[in-house]
Amino acid sequence: MSIALIVHGGAGNIKAERFAQAQQGCKEAAAIGWSVLQQGGSALDAVEAAVRALETNPNFNAGTGSCLNIAGNIEMDAGIMDGSTLNVGAIAGVELIQHPITLARRVMESEHAFLIQEGAQQFAREQGIPACRFEDLLTERQYTAWKEGNTNAAALTYTAKETDKNSNSNGKDSNDTTSKHGTVGAVAIDSEGHLAAATSTGGILNKYPGRVGDSPLIGCGFYADEYAAISCTGYGEDFIRLMIAHRAATAVAHGADAQEAAQKTIEFLSQHAEGTGGLIIVDRNGKVGKAKNSQHLAYASITEDNAANEPQAGID
Ligand code: ASP
Repeated sequence: MSIALIVHGGAGNIKAERFAQAQQGCKEAAAIGWSVLQQGGSALDAVEAAVRALETNPNFNAGTGSCLNIAGNIEMDAGIMDGSTLNVGAIAGVELIQHPITLARRVMESEHAFLIQEGAQQFAREQGIPACRFEDLLTERQYTAWKEGNTNAAALTYTAKETDKNSNSNGKDSNDTTSKHGTVGAVAIDSEGHLAAATSTGGILNKYPGRVGDSPLIGCGFYADEYAAISCTGYGEDFIRLMIAHRAATAVAHGADAQEAAQKTIEFLSQHAEGTGGLIIVDRNGKVGKAKNSQHLAYASITEDNAANEPQAGID
């Protein structure tokens, strides 16, 4: 069986001076996922490892680098799915968790499928996943974007945020316009032909407290079955109502390859919604695909055709 993996670092409008950073982050995450697959690891382990790398990287809107909601809090969502068992795990509205994707994986391995907010936090504690500090997640770039875009910001008090705003301990730049989007995701097929998908996000800048987008919703922001694995990014409300990830998997089940399915599904999005975004997909033949109707989509992929070389990365 051919192994393959593709990751994304979000859709949106990425400023040209940030292209290199976004591509590099995607390449590094793809290489990490690829080494799991090459060593005979599962697609599930590969997508979790790749997404953890993207959550650690402050340049993406997931884990460290997540955007703030209108109240100045960071509420994160994530979902992971094993296409070979159809097991799924998701969390939404969690705070102070460094790796939401790993919490979602633990949910998948429990009797639950989806936990939110305080229940998810309690589950994390029970699983021995420690809470991180607010400043471990907050970046200068996201703080600046929040402040500029939030007319109520001056009226809000949030001490952790105030103390962090000068520290920029993660070395972020503040020249980015992707803060509204920038979700991360990975999809892979392993040597046994098993497919897996993972998506993680801070959501959308200045979102309403408690707002949940497509990212942790099965069939909307991620999906995996025996045919394909998909991770999405974009305007979540539209991805939810059109069940974009499941739609792409269905296209593969009906005979499309990964690239055809990606294109068809994004065409459907364009025809039925104003929201923009993109998706990545791997099919059961080890082919990868990607499509978007947003200005940009940051990605990196490795398949057996290009494994000897660098990951194929780009900002489409
Ligand atoms: N889809 C995510 C959400 O709506 C945002 C994104 O992909 O950038 O929460």
